[in-house]
Amino acid sequence: MNNNLTGQRCPSCAVGILHDDSKIVTQEYKGHTYQSQMHGAFCDQCDEAIVSFDAAEEVAWLAFRDQVDRQEASQLEGIRKRLKLTQAQAAQLAGGGKNAFSRYENGQAKPVAAVINLFKLLDKHPELIKELI
Ligand SMILES: [Zn+2]
Repeated sequence: MNNNLTGQRCPSCAVGILHDDSKIVTQEYKGHTYQSQMHGAFCDQCDEAIVSFDAAEEVAWLAFRDQVDRQEASQLEGIRKRLKLTQAQAAQLAGGGKNAFSRYENGQAKPVAAVINLFKLLDKHPELIKELI
């Protein structure tokens, strides 16, 4: 990729010179790591990087997050079924309205972390459900 910032002085440290480069950047989403390659102008003296927007990378990152969300939704559905709860009963436990679980499981809504964590705990310790209903 050609970058017209190459050769310019770094705006951050004012000492280094920017050069065209790419770096592997690791991002995390809900405990899943994702690596993408970022292109841009990197300073040879400090950590400054002026990263150029890459639409294909952005699409791939969003698709990765969608996939994680779908995995999470199907995991939640699996746990609910193992606990022998209907969607309505699960929603009563977790809050969020009586349609919350159908919305989570078909991807219309994302459960907050507390819901996921509650159901992960109940999956490991199903006997605790007696404390809640
Ligand atoms: Zn710099």
